[in-house]
Amino acid sequence: MAVKLYNTLTRKKEIFKPIKKNHVGLYSCGPTVYWYQHIGNLRSYIFSDILKRVLEYNKYKVKHVMNVTDVGHLTSDANTGEDKIEKAAKKEGKRAEDIANFYWKVFRNDFKKLNIIEPDIWSKAIDHIKEQIALIKKLEKKGYTYKTSDGIYFNTAKFKNYSKLAKLKKEGLKAGARIKLGEKKNKTDFVLWKFSEKSGVRQQEWKSPFGLGFPGWHIECSAMCMKYLGDNFDIHTGGIDHIPVHHTNEIAQSEAATGKKFVNYWLHGAFLTSKGKKISKSKGGLYTISELEEKEFRPLSYKYFTFTAHYRSPLNFDLKALESAQNSHKRLKNIISEIKDDNKLNKTYLKKFENAINNDLDMPSAISILWQLVRDKKAQGKVKTIKEMDKVFGLDLLKKERSKISDNIKNLIKEREDARKVKDFKKADKIRDKLREQGIILEDTKEGVKWKLSKQ
Ligand code: AMP
Ligand code: ZN
Repeated sequence: MAVKLYNTLTRKKEIFKPIKKNHVGLYSCGPTVYWYQHIGNLRSYIFSDILKRVLEYNKYKVKHVMNVTDVGHLTSDANTGEDKIEKAAKKEGKRAEDIANFYWKVFRNDFKKLNIIEPDIWSKAIDHIKEQIALIKKLEKKGYTYKTSDGIYFNTAKFKNYSKLAKLKKEGLKAGARIKLGEKKNKTDFVLWKFSEKSGVRQQEWKSPFGLGFPGWHIECSAMCMKYLGDNFDIHTGGIDHIPVHHTNEIAQSEAATGKKFVNYWLHGAFLTSKGKKISKSKGGLYTISELEEKEFRPLSYKYFTFTAHYRSPLNFDLKALESAQNSHKRLKNIISEIKDDNKLNKTYLKKFENAINNDLDMPSAISILWQLVRDKKAQGKVKTIKEMDKVFGLDLLKKERSKISDNIKNLIKEREDARKVKDFKKADKIRDKLREQGIILEDTKEGVKWKLSKQ
């Protein structure tokens, strides 16, 4: 079945055609690991995960690479300000590497909680300094770079199609419009290699043919994309904020270096907003997954919540809306847990579901089809079909809940066991009845007593 994807390059939904039959090279811009990722950031990764799952559902073999930005991302995307990791290390009094590893670990743990499949390759910027230097040298040789007192810059005026992704002029998105020109030749020029102001002040700095310093943020993605996926590959993802600067610069430096088209399909996820406003990590304001858990929200219910909007539409977050999504998610799981498996597949519903996911990952429709199936009294093959659908949702729809019982109930179960041990069956039966009234069914098995919740 054809998968249609909205390509930011053409501003059109296109039928996806891979470079190599049945294979997909996929790169997702990963986190800058100087702080916790909030649920807005995680919305972007739920989106790239769904993309990967949909491609795999369609039998593509996906090679997924995600970078970890552990150097070079300055407090402004357009290369001004401090390095985010160095700044955090100073503030927390730690080594830059420890800061990066700590927040990366938290991030991976969030992936686990959200059932996001880890990429095949995690690539850390500091492990690819050599590749970044080589790419800058290539650009230097081709005459795309120049030197200022603080670094080596890419000359955007030399690259003919600089604004093709962001359609800067056409849509009035002037990248770098508020930035001072300084020693730069053009406002949109960006740093490839930044010099250390003084040796030994920064924690992360490397020797290079250009001088002591560190790579810029944009060059890391180009160098790692090319290393793992080749000069030209299939799909690149990120949040919409990356369109005018980061991805525009990735295209410029990659295509300038190779003379080839860099990426065939660019996909961008819209923002999670709060009170209608864009929320960035540096400004704070959105919760982390752990903070939601402290409020008794389940990570997978947050994931369910993100499916209420298409990935290209902004989604406003508030706790009330999340609570309502959590109730729907729980209700859905409860209903599903009651369905008996008839070992059939419902092809009609599955087809509808496939049409939705293959239509540029239309998850709101996919969820509504799932509900229709669940509620359809006449439909057969529900369990097997839901299992298929959950390969994409990743919502653990068929996983049994580990129900909790109160200490009071635990004590009653223990009391009954003690009564049985001394053969006081009258008392044991009485306790059993009492528990049944409270919705707990007991089963005496060889391995001991087991309990389950009654179905009414
Ligand atoms: P960062 O770690 O700041 O580089 O951001 C990681 C990813 O999260 C990037 O792909 C951003 O585009 C994305 N992002 C940042 N804020 C939001 C938000 N509020 N909603 C959705 N995605 C976001
Ligand atoms: Zn990137």
